[in-house]
This record gives sequence, structure tokens and C-alpha cells, in this order.
Amino acid sequence: MSVTPGIAKDFLREVEAADRIYIGTHLNPDGDAIGSALAVALFLDALGRPNEVLCNDLPPYNLRFLPSVDRVRLAPEGPASLAILVDLDSSSRLGKIRPFVETCPRMIVIDHHVPHEAPGDLRIVDTASPATAAILYDLFKASLAEITPDIATCLLAGIITDTGSFRFSNTTPHSLTISADLLARGGNIVRIGEEVFQKKQLPAVRLLGRCIAKMKLALGDRLAWSALSHRDFEESGATEEHTEGLANELLSVDTVQVAALIREPLPGKVRASLRSRGDFDVASVARQFGGGGHKNAAGCTFDTSLEEAERALVSALESCLASS
Ligand code: 5GP
Ligand code: MN
Repeated sequence: MSVTPGIAKDFLREVEAADRIYIGTHLNPDGDAIGSALAVALFLDALGRPNEVLCNDLPPYNLRFLPSVDRVRLAPEGPASLAILVDLDSSSRLGKIRPFVETCPRMIVIDHHVPHEAPGDLRIVDTASPATAAILYDLFKASLAEITPDIATCLLAGIITDTGSFRFSNTTPHSLTISADLLARGGNIVRIGEEVFQKKQLPAVRLLGRCIAKMKLALGDRLAWSALSHRDFEESGATEEHTEGLANELLSVDTVQVAALIREPLPGKVRASLRSRGDFDVASVARQFGGGGHKNAAGCTFDTSLEEAERALVSALESCLASS
């Protein structure tokens, strides 16, 4: 267990001293980001602490079933004296909510990424944890909070998405044990499975078709990438949120060890998602371009054209992969 009773006590002290609390998470939020943020909101409700959930983006389609998901806002309605930031490794990933968060005199960070910077008056960071939601489970337990069915669904959604449904190497005996407890407490695993993994909007399927059709390979088919133009997005009726999972589709080719999806969802806004199998560390490549992430899943943003981003990124991946 990564959370000691002492840390839980410090956490509760901060929460009890605050009149209003912002809960913030990273832009382009995933299941761990939104699940963790909503779980904290429900936990604070039970303690009678007024709170607001803030994110640069509204939750994507496949997370809109989560309990209390309508509470996620792009901007706050009132001031707060404490910010609790979940699943966040770098303040820059707050996006447009950063100025609101920075008005708070106190800040708590709860995260499982390798940190970029170390903001926060209290930091509950465990890089060995598979998901921020798993750290929250330990924190709520250590705080003697009741884990309601809604909190259980939010936490389970975070653990299931970040472990790829218990398939990734971050799946630990502890994550399975706590997931069993979350299921026993009413976490709706069937709904999570259906909404997160079994449903896609039509633009996402159209974009997937283009991603596969445009796939390129190098280094004896060990490297795969696809570059999607703004036109691909327009013609598919797709937006950034429909890129979820595309890089993993490229990685699913049996010879491929490293995959990259480079795209321009809005004119001039170029982003890349990197995925790898085994030991190849894509976060180190993402960092070369000012991004970051985990060993097997990372991302970065470019301020160049799509073609230049593709050239620069593929060349960096090729040199790393050729020497590995
Ligand atoms: P995705 O490709 O799904 O957008 O991101 C994969 C992982 O890489 C995320 O879990 C996130 O931690 C990280 N990541 C993606 N983009 C960035 C970025 O621009 N900066 C940093 N620091 N991490 C990123
Ligand atoms: Mn996470």
C-alpha cells in the first residue's frame, strides 16, 4: 500500500481547512483522469466540502456514462482555496484551467507518472502504481471513507483503462485485489466494459479506416506510423477525441515494436501518440519534443506542419530503434 496513515491524515487536514476545492486533471482526459477526478468529487461531497471538477476538455464520449460526469467544467463558478490535481505529471498539461488552479493558495497532487516537476504542497505520488485511481483507493481506505458504488465505478474505470483491462505489465496483484473489492462494493464493471471498449462513434471508425490505410512501415516492419491530416478529420467528421486507441491499432501488427500516430485534428495543432512493446522507451523520444509519458505510452505536441512533425519524429524513432 502506497498511502500511509500519516499521508492520509495530512490529506484530510488540507481538505478540512479548505472552504472550496477545485479538482483538476490533465487535458485530453482518459478514464483514469476523469474517473479519479469524479471519485475525489464524490469523496469530498461525503465530507461536506464544496468542490468543482475542472478540465481543459469535456470528458470524451466513452466516459460520459460515469457517475456525476456532468460536473466536469471548463471553468469554475467561484473561487477555491485548495486545488487537488489528479493524474497530472506537469502543470502545462492543465491547459486552460491552469490560471484557475494557480489562484489556489494550497495544492495537492495525486499521481502515478514519473514527475516532470514537483508542484504541490502535498504530493501523493507513486510511480509503481498502475493508476491514479489505485492510489485514491488506498487513500480513501486509509482515510476511513466509505467507498460507495458510484465511487467504486469511477475508481474501477481508472484502473481498467490504465491497465488495458488488466493486460498491461502494470497489472499487479494489488491492482487485481483492489479491483475485486471495488466490484464487491458495487463498481459496475459490465457498464465500464460496454461503454469504454465495446462502443465507437461512426467518425472514430471512419478515422480508424484512414489510419490503417495510411500506415507506413520501416526498419523491417518494426516501426509503424500513420499521419492523419486535418482533411482526414474533416472528411471523417472526426475530432481529436476519435484518435483514442488508434496508435494501439498500429502496434497490434505482430512485427511492430514501436508505433506512432501523428495527426492534425485542428489546423496548425499537431500532436503525436507513441506506443511500444517491451523495453523500448517511447517517453524518452517524446521528451526530445517537449512531451512525455510512460515507457510504453507517451505523447508530444508540435508547432510545425504535419509533414515536418512526421519527418522529425520518424527520424528520432528510427535512430533509437536502430540502436536498440
Ligand atoms: P496519449 O497518446 O494517449 O495522448 O498519451 C499517452 C500518455 O503520454 C499519457 O498517459 C500521458 O501521460 C502522456 N502524454 C501525452 N502527451 C503528453 C505531453 O504532451 N506531455 C507529457 N508530459 N505527457 C504526455
Ligand atoms: Mn493514469
